[in-house]
Amino acid sequence: MLPHPDQTTTGASFAQFRRRAFVAIEDVRLQTALEGATGRFRQHREAALAALPEADALRDHLKAVRAATLADLAHHLETFERQAIAAGARVHWARDAAEARAIITNLARQNGVKLVTKTKSMATEEIGLNQALAEAGVTPVETDLGEWIIQLAGEPPSHIIAPAVHKTRHQVAQLLSRETGQDLIADDIPRLTAAAREHLRARFLQADMGITGANIGVAETGSIVLVTNEGNAEMTTSLPPIHVVLMGIEKIAPTWDDAAAWLSLLARSATGQPLSVYTTILTGPARADDPEGPRQMHIVLLDNGRSRLLNTLYEEVLQCIRCGACLNVCPVYREAGGHAYGSPYSGPIGAVITPLLFGLEQYAALPHASTLCGACRDACPVRIDLPRLLLSLREEEVARNVLPWPDRAAERSAAFILAHTRLLHATRTLLRPFTNIATTESDFSPLHALTAGRKLPSLASRSFHQMWHNGEV
Ligand code: SF4
Repeated sequence: MLPHPDQTTTGASFAQFRRRAFVAIEDVRLQTALEGATGRFRQHREAALAALPEADALRDHLKAVRAATLADLAHHLETFERQAIAAGARVHWARDAAEARAIITNLARQNGVKLVTKTKSMATEEIGLNQALAEAGVTPVETDLGEWIIQLAGEPPSHIIAPAVHKTRHQVAQLLSRETGQDLIADDIPRLTAAAREHLRARFLQADMGITGANIGVAETGSIVLVTNEGNAEMTTSLPPIHVVLMGIEKIAPTWDDAAAWLSLLARSATGQPLSVYTTILTGPARADDPEGPRQMHIVLLDNGRSRLLNTLYEEVLQCIRCGACLNVCPVYREAGGHAYGSPYSGPIGAVITPLLFGLEQYAALPHASTLCGACRDACPVRIDLPRLLLSLREEEVARNVLPWPDRAAERSAAFILAHTRLLHATRTLLRPFTNIATTESDFSPLHALTAGRKLPSLASRSFHQMWHNGEV
């Protein structure tokens, strides 16, 4: 069982990130799985957006909607609460992960819940809900196929929308064979899915409570929107007598028009689908004369550090619609994989949101887990300037002395040298022989650990400055 993130967070110091990334890079099966999945997501996303002539205008519109919503978030949340209560739901406010866990486990205890079915929810990963439920004597069963696979493997998700993206079908077949007691083979995908369906169907029928996240909360009607491809959300929200929703406070759309713009881009950016297979809208629990459906609906609104970001230079990160597109284009994520980040949120969005929610000191390496190439900003449906946010976090690390001392010393020296032209020329002349050594492939090079496997270009014999001075350019 995984730890509560806010209690025993895995963290990502420079050494931890480097170690995990090296392990991932050496893992041939992981590299194959990552390259295949992220490559498919990228191609599908590009094709879906190319087929939508108004895609760019829609992205600008959604960004404006998200910015305006955050500018008046308290008002929209209160509208949402009022409308959800009017529809028969109960609304709970959770300041942090501990409060959210306590609210949900208390609901389970009060209602004698023993078995919970869950849909995929990054918010529940963020608060470490599964372990809290287990400690309260409740068995949580993930019902999204990817989430179930990693639950069986005892691992955290490695991608925002595809939690088991790092698993090959052979590994999946092994896990499902162990769990179901059947002899499943990797190439028989229909049999694998049938075995999963059969196994999970029984859990849906036995569950006392269903727990979901929320892709969107629509303020004007107090409704929850869930976006899935497997139909497990329908089972989770209609079969058990109690439905609990855990939703980050930033996931609000004021109106249905705003939600429509959001939905137009979410699946296209995530998987390249015009819409996901299921888009479920839930407004309150079952009515008195409904023959079926949950008798109780509880919506837990999770802050956990989000409101702290409002009106700061990091507010833009709350515009995220969790599509995962930035992960699929990121050269660091595609090599290092999601587990290197030591957080439920990985890739470029994880590198920004994780230190902001869980602590810059504990996740000092993440703002540096980027080449700043800008691919994430270009892919983001709401054009979040992730490179700018990463640079701001790096600046904050310098100001707060978070960097390890060798990095601090190196950066201060570099800043001093770059600010003094003569010193820069002298340094370049002094360093040239050493860069020539470093660029050799020799095992005896003093920089072998850094240069092994790649070639650094040697310094030019004359600088651009000298060439300019001599009238050569
Ligand atoms: S930052 Fe943008 S691209 Fe990345 S998950 Fe959020 S919305 Fe998607």
